[in-house]
Amino acid sequence: MSHFAIRDGVLYAESVALPAIAEQFGTPAYVYSRASLVASLQEFLEVLDGHPAGRGALVCYAAKANSNLAILNLFARMGAGFDIVSGGELQRVLAAGADPRKVVFSGVGKAAAEMKMALDAGIFCFNIESAPELERLNEIAGHCGRTARVSLRVNPNVDPKTHPYISTGLKEAKFGVAYEGALALYRRAAALPNIDVAGIDCHIGSQLLDPAPFVEALERILALVDQLTAEGIGINHLDLGGGLGIKYKADQAEPTVASYLTPLLDKLTGRGLQVVLEPGRRLVGNAGLLLTRVEFLKPGEGKNFAIIDAAMNDLMRPALYEAWHDIVPVVPRGGATRDYDVVGPVCESGDFLGLARPLNIEPGDLLAVMSAGAYGMAMSSNYNTRPRAVEVMVDGDRVHQIRRRETVAELYAGEQVLPA
Ligand SMILES: *Cc1c(COP(=O)(O)O)cnc(C)c1O
Repeated sequence: MSHFAIRDGVLYAESVALPAIAEQFGTPAYVYSRASLVASLQEFLEVLDGHPAGRGALVCYAAKANSNLAILNLFARMGAGFDIVSGGELQRVLAAGADPRKVVFSGVGKAAAEMKMALDAGIFCFNIESAPELERLNEIAGHCGRTARVSLRVNPNVDPKTHPYISTGLKEAKFGVAYEGALALYRRAAALPNIDVAGIDCHIGSQLLDPAPFVEALERILALVDQLTAEGIGINHLDLGGGLGIKYKADQAEPTVASYLTPLLDKLTGRGLQVVLEPGRRLVGNAGLLLTRVEFLKPGEGKNFAIIDAAMNDLMRPALYEAWHDIVPVVPRGGATRDYDVVGPVCESGDFLGLARPLNIEPGDLLAVMSAGAYGMAMSSNYNTRPRAVEVMVDGDRVHQIRRRETVAELYAGEQVLPA
């Protein structure tokens, strides 16, 4: 069920009409639904709880999808852990009330200082992505007198059939260690004095709408677990990464969490492995939209432009991956439409949020760019010295500002001119 719906001719977030939010907070604005965030995490927790292989599982929300403190805090309160990819994200999730013992640390380039910070915090596990990273972690752990729990992120070499920029589990990817070399690296890990082999990890890509590649990946990973067990290298947890997709079009189908997880859990029954998941997009993507206003309409030769006050710096996905977001009028006018390229004010031809969209709109109208909760604000920038948007969370009939709009002065506060 969507928590964004048209009622009496106006688009609502839960019980709040979006024009009221535009009035109070201005545009562009990211608008999230608390009920939607809660429901999406709940769906994971219920499926896991209802399966013998899912009990005791850890859902580590991939903070990079949307790292606003309010969202992190909401998930932490529901018992979630976090998948982080930097020391900055570690500080963020701790500031949001995360339990460090539920944090996994992924990423190919962990700096020594980041490793130390995570060791001192006592995180659950480091997901190791290369041999030199393992050596560095062993060394740093030795310096701080600690033992680092690790998983190796193994590339099962399955094709998730998603966009190449978000496909990560292939041989050619910069992520993870090659399947063929994983056994040798596990032997090395088991021999290192400050390393504790805890688990195994894989993450094959993002925005997967077909559960089949997950099953294929799991089969390959389990074959490796069996080899490790035979060698006396015990594995306690199995981290299946994130990657479950969402629908970006209202009429699109999306797999349920159960249809994704149940076949995986079935294969794990009786193995005694703790399951760890790292969903990002699926928990937040459809819980947020980007509210924007039409500045100008610019009819042209064979092309019409709708120039809006949001841009690629606010939501980069269309420019970066040619990603689709539904764009809907907040107060639909009905009547005849015209095809518009919906573009922002940024000086780049790639600055569009949607192309050839049939709309009946006038200057001043509000538009909602849907499914913008994941990799929206998190990937935003200040390009063209554009202050980043305000973020608000709707909870029933209340609206909470969860990040104020930036001011221009803040954008250059850290800069300095040369002495005279
Ligand atoms: C990005 C990422 C995720 C989350 O991916 P989604 O597609 O948003 O679910 C999980 N794990 C790792 C290691 C990632 O890099």
